[in-house]
Amino acid sequence: MDDLSRALGEVLLSDLECPVCMEYMVPPIKMCTNGHNICSRCRGSVQCCPTCRAEFLHTRNVALEHIVRRQKYPCANKQMGCHDLLSIEHIAEHNDVCVYGKIKCPLHLDKTCSWNGLKNDLKEHAKAAHPKHFVEASTLHYPHSGLGVGIIFCFGELFTYLQRMKVGRLYGAVQLIGPSSEASKYKCEFTLRAANGIEQISKTFLVRCYAEDFETIFNSGTCFCLDEKAVKYFLEGSNPKLKTTLSRV
Ligand SMILES: [Zn+2]
Ligand SMILES: [Zn+2]
Ligand SMILES: [Zn+2]
Ligand SMILES: [Zn+2]
Repeated sequence: MDDLSRALGEVLLSDLECPVCMEYMVPPIKMCTNGHNICSRCRGSVQCCPTCRAEFLHTRNVALEHIVRRQKYPCANKQMGCHDLLSIEHIAEHNDVCVYGKIKCPLHLDKTCSWNGLKNDLKEHAKAAHPKHFVEASTLHYPHSGLGVGIIFCFGELFTYLQRMKVGRLYGAVQLIGPSSEASKYKCEFTLRAANGIEQISKTFLVRCYAEDFETIFNSGTCFCLDEKAVKYFLEGSNPKLKTTLSRV
């Protein structure tokens, strides 16, 4: 990007901030009779235009909404080192998991923890609050039943592990609590052994990053997924555990 387009981008970005909440405006964007804009979140909280006190119209600023949807926005933690550019739909989602700012504890996935803090404090939190879910090793054994969330510390990094049974299928994935450029430097191998100790299934995938939604990963085919028949065959009778081994690529 040259200096001119960068400068234009910054001017445009400041024009896309809502005058009330100072956040980027999320459509639908409404206007006052003098043409000032307001974001959808703030429209309900003001009686008249905060800029000129005129009345608001029911008309949406469709042209501005198009610009808003096309624009890529810097992450709120840009100053802390996050260089991600995001669409308006993904900003809020990204902010929740951006490892340069406050992040949620992985145990929010099974709704047992509401901790929200800096990545640097997560290891201590996991150790103290979730000793049963925290491992300091590159190999993890998880019972297959129900939803399994784990926090793994190895290679000097924190990872989160999620396993789930859904409509008879068993899914497993690992994310690096860090940027996507770092996540692809690790891989995870999932191994499931049959009760006879001879047959086994082993699949290897790249580690994903914490900013990605597990639902999306599970639906993308880029994680461990075992179909219903194989789940029945491999998990029947015994109490086998899915073994997950992390290593560098
Ligand atoms: Zn607003
Ligand atoms: Zn106005
Ligand atoms: Zn970010
Ligand atoms: Zn927690």
